[in-house]
Amino acid sequence: MKETSIGDSETALAKSSGVSEISPGLLAELFESLEEAVLVADRNRRLVYVNLAAERLFGYRKDELYGKETKVLYADEGDFSEQGRKRFNAASNIATENFRVVYRRSDGEQFLGMTTGSAMRSADGAVTGFIGVVRPAHSADRSLDALQRVHTITSDINMTHNQKISSLMRVVLNHFGLEIAILSRIIENDYIVEDCVDLIGDLKPLTKFEVSGTYCSHTLNADKTVGFHYVGKSEIRNHPCYKNFQLESYIGAPVKLNGDIYGTINFSSPSPVEPFNKDDHILVELVSDAISYLLYKKMADEELEALARVDELTGLPNRRATLERLNQLIDQSNRFTKDLSVLSIDIDHFKKINDKWGHAAGDRALVEFGQVVSGLGRKTDFCGRIGGEEFVFVLSGADSGTAQALGDKLRHLLAATPVDLNGGESISLSVSAGVAMLENGESVESLLARADDAMYRAKQQGRDRVCQ
Ligand code: GH3
Ligand code: MG
Ligand code: MG
Repeated sequence: MKETSIGDSETALAKSSGVSEISPGLLAELFESLEEAVLVADRNRRLVYVNLAAERLFGYRKDELYGKETKVLYADEGDFSEQGRKRFNAASNIATENFRVVYRRSDGEQFLGMTTGSAMRSADGAVTGFIGVVRPAHSADRSLDALQRVHTITSDINMTHNQKISSLMRVVLNHFGLEIAILSRIIENDYIVEDCVDLIGDLKPLTKFEVSGTYCSHTLNADKTVGFHYVGKSEIRNHPCYKNFQLESYIGAPVKLNGDIYGTINFSSPSPVEPFNKDDHILVELVSDAISYLLYKKMADEELEALARVDELTGLPNRRATLERLNQLIDQSNRFTKDLSVLSIDIDHFKKINDKWGHAAGDRALVEFGQVVSGLGRKTDFCGRIGGEEFVFVLSGADSGTAQALGDKLRHLLAATPVDLNGGESISLSVSAGVAMLENGESVESLLARADDAMYRAKQQGRDRVCQ
């Protein structure tokens, strides 16, 4: 095997750095005695010199690296490209800077490296190569890096809440070098996996365990972040969780929503790790808080979304929700050649109710109408309010005869259910309705237009009837 002598390195260094006027021996000797890894690459980012500390840090011999692209040292090819765009290119005009990169050793192990890097230039200013000085990050650097990643994720405006939660769990998992990350939902004595990353097994969301048999029971009892770096040698080594899962390292925190326990986040591995320190606990707590906030936002958004689909007065699906659901059902019917019918319903002489008893009485009549239609039809049927006193009843899997029958049933029910108006007076509502049955490949607009045409015929023929 060829030993790379300092002499070779000197020549390589001198050639690449373009600083031949300075004695290359001087620099190489200095570099060889440094504790930091020094890496010199040519303009194509191919390594031409590495010092002894670099051999040790990355686990390669010099001759294994010379001529190779610096890409071999990066854990993530994307980072290699990004650094190329940013600073390690011939047009680079960034001054020497410190930055953090996740590197990969020859044995595959990854580590965070604090790097000082810049371009090297010849006397005329042209970039002749690049130099990087790397030292492994200390615990505080690593925590800072994790915090920065957490910040980048939480402030990203393009990610969904769920994507953010998954990404946050991955950051913590990588930070600790563990294998399993879980966001659990705790409901009474059930521990349900809501989201997870499992690098060694195939744990899936919705998997259920009994809370009392999990590591998280300790976190929940303590009501704060709890960590075990070597469970087999800890006070919980006789707890059922250890027998159940055989995980040697675990750190987990409660996740609260509006002050109540929602579940936990936890990170674990079958192997023991270095003891968790205070910064580690803070990181897990911080991510637990960030996830609580994301869960809260997710629920608030879902509530708003649901509200945006409901008609405030009657509680029926509003126009938007009705058309969306009808569109989906039409799609299904067209695909599976299933019947679908609609009734376009308009309350008769509704203006007169408003005129005679006032708008509030009209509103009450609409609410009662909503209650009557809600009780009609099968589970899969629904009635939406698409305008003032105009409704669409959707019957999936039904032909026009069924829709006609439902329309008549509605008329009879309305006749039998008078609406109380002001001063003890009451009237029965009547409706005019039009039936249309979906034709093959028909659009929602065409279907509703046909139902409306039929409804107008019912008006013309004297109201209080159903036409086809
Ligand atoms: P027709 O039998 O021809 O359908 O007669 P109509 O009076 O029902 O029809 P028109 O379309 O002339 O009037 C509908 C009325 O419904 C007018 C409007 O003031 C009333 N309306 C629409 N939305 C509401 C509402 O939310 N509350 C109340 N109280 N009235 C409403
Ligand atoms: Mg109308
Ligand atoms: Mg009307």
